[in-house]
Amino acid sequence: MTMSCSHVRGAEPATGAVAKAVAAAEHKCVAAGERWTASRRRTYELLIRAGRPVKAYDLIAGYADAGETAAKPPTIYRALDFLAAHGLIHRIESLNAFLACNVEGHAHTAQFLICDCCGRAEELDAGIETIVASAANRRGFTPTRVIMEVHGACADCT
Ligand SMILES: [Zn+2]
Ligand SMILES: [Zn+2]
Ligand SMILES: [Zn+2]
Repeated sequence: MTMSCSHVRGAEPATGAVAKAVAAAEHKCVAAGERWTASRRRTYELLIRAGRPVKAYDLIAGYADAGETAAKPPTIYRALDFLAAHGLIHRIESLNAFLACNVEGHAHTAQFLICDCCGRAEELDAGIETIVASAANRRGFTPTRVIMEVHGACADCT
């Protein structure tokens, strides 16, 4: 689905890990009183399997690869919006891509370390938003959203 450099091998999660993550996401969704529809499950599963940021059109292709009923793009976009709103995935603005969240129960102002070589992204909680908020507050500015996306090379690719 996504190309990879030669530095990283075996980054695909085990089948058991995928099933476990999908079951946990379903539980969270149902606990919030929402329906865990086929398109939400499938979209989430594709992102968990990828283990890296994936663009929406690659997800659409992923549906086709799996021989599932072809999903219409609006169905996938709605599923992505839903999953992001429930903190199950993150949107990475600078890549225009989505990443399954792998941090349990964090306050969703995630920061990301993005490897431009292998394409993987890692969530980072460096407390940047606290620093930015206090600096902004000193200027009388109230931030509602802080996006921190750090591009570079991961440990495997350095
Ligand atoms: Zn997260
Ligand atoms: Zn890398
Ligand atoms: Zn690499």
